[in-house]
Amino acid sequence: MFLSVFDIFKIGVGPSSSHTMGPMLAAARFLEALRAARQREPGSAPPVRIAASLHGSLAFTGKGHATDRAVVLGLLGYRPETLDPEEAGRREAALRETRLIEVPGLGPLAFDPDEDVVFDYGPPLPGHANGMVLRSFDAAGNLHLSETYYSIGGGFVLTERELSHASLKGSDAEVSRPYPFANAAEMLAMGEASGLGIAAMKRENETAGGDSALDTRLDHLWSVMDACIERGLSTDGTLPGGLKVRRRARAIHQALLAERGGNTIQPHAVNDWLSVYAMAVNEENAAGGRVVTAPTNGAAGVVPAVIRYYRDHCVGASRQGIRDFLLTSAAVGGIIKSNASISGAEVGCQGEVGSAAAMAAAGLCAALGGSNAQIENAAEIALEHHLGMTCDPARGLVQVPCIERNGLGAIKAVAAASLALRGDGVHIVPLDACIETMRQTGIDMSVKYKETSTGGLAVNLPEC
Ligand code: SF4
Repeated sequence: MFLSVFDIFKIGVGPSSSHTMGPMLAAARFLEALRAARQREPGSAPPVRIAASLHGSLAFTGKGHATDRAVVLGLLGYRPETLDPEEAGRREAALRETRLIEVPGLGPLAFDPDEDVVFDYGPPLPGHANGMVLRSFDAAGNLHLSETYYSIGGGFVLTERELSHASLKGSDAEVSRPYPFANAAEMLAMGEASGLGIAAMKRENETAGGDSALDTRLDHLWSVMDACIERGLSTDGTLPGGLKVRRRARAIHQALLAERGGNTIQPHAVNDWLSVYAMAVNEENAAGGRVVTAPTNGAAGVVPAVIRYYRDHCVGASRQGIRDFLLTSAAVGGIIKSNASISGAEVGCQGEVGSAAAMAAAGLCAALGGSNAQIENAAEIALEHHLGMTCDPARGLVQVPCIERNGLGAIKAVAAASLALRGDGVHIVPLDACIETMRQTGIDMSVKYKETSTGGLAVNLPEC
């Protein structure tokens, strides 16, 4: 299985990769399935109506994550990476008037955005905590086509059949890769045998499929992350969803800028810089803005914050260092996704912010010249100290505890990279053992703490 750096880091929109981007993609895929069915059987009764049902975590926290709206936008033909929010808003408003979706190649289909997305609070579907079913009906009301989709985290979507065949395919799955490491031990062994760093091996894997514009695409990825930080640092206001969470990144950033060069600055202010970069991203995410999954939307602030810290605060930072950072982070993210999970609905927040911190620690360690062993150590330290972390977002919104949690994840990532760089890479717990521990801990974790908002902070916050 090969997961590209562009599978791990996907440009999309907030507030959630699994609950917003995934369902949007699933709805868009259903339209493709409908078109394919019409081409296969042009003489059969055509579909005239569509409906969707959300199950498991998609039902329990779907309202806070705007999952119903994501389904609507997917059925309107939008995809997260190209969504124009203003145009989408206008078309959504028109749909609420007409209750008809014009689908090229299929004609008008009845769809009521208020009635035809059902939140099913019964047992989750068997394949994954984030399940959804899309159905079409003919003019007589008979079922025309039904497809089950699972949004398995990070914006990845699989049909029931794909999931049962374990066909988690990344980009160009059939291309042979020179360094096909499936876990951290193999990654270290291949590095030892080849004499290459992790970023160099990942680079060769990426370009084996003929990607001659890798650096340009990596630079674009970083530019979208950085633009997200900048928007977050320059925007005030209250986040949507009803919790009345105020955006704080702009004010904190202004205060940090004002303190610069003064004699009252404390050494620990560096933590505030890391936090404010991460919070800027996650405030944008909570507002439904343009973000890069890293590896999810809920954890989208950690990697950009640590890259920005590297670029603006570390001696000797370079553009090439940022590319190596992204490649190394993606190598670690791919290993975690393949061997455990990056989905909060599957393993709790250890899989989201914990994975992001491991990726950022590895990336920073690489950019600062760490050896492969030190990079593996950095990722392990960061992940180990997120083990057991639950997902209990208040009101199902990706705001509390998510926004601050990304700041703390970034701080832990830098601490982990720094500790690893002060050692020689020799350590007790291998990264693979830590990833397996996360997987097992996720299995044992009560469903209350896996993005259902039925336990933890989600039920203990006083009403406001
Ligand atoms: S608590 Fe963590 S896993 Fe849950 S929504 Fe927030 S960031 Fe995602």
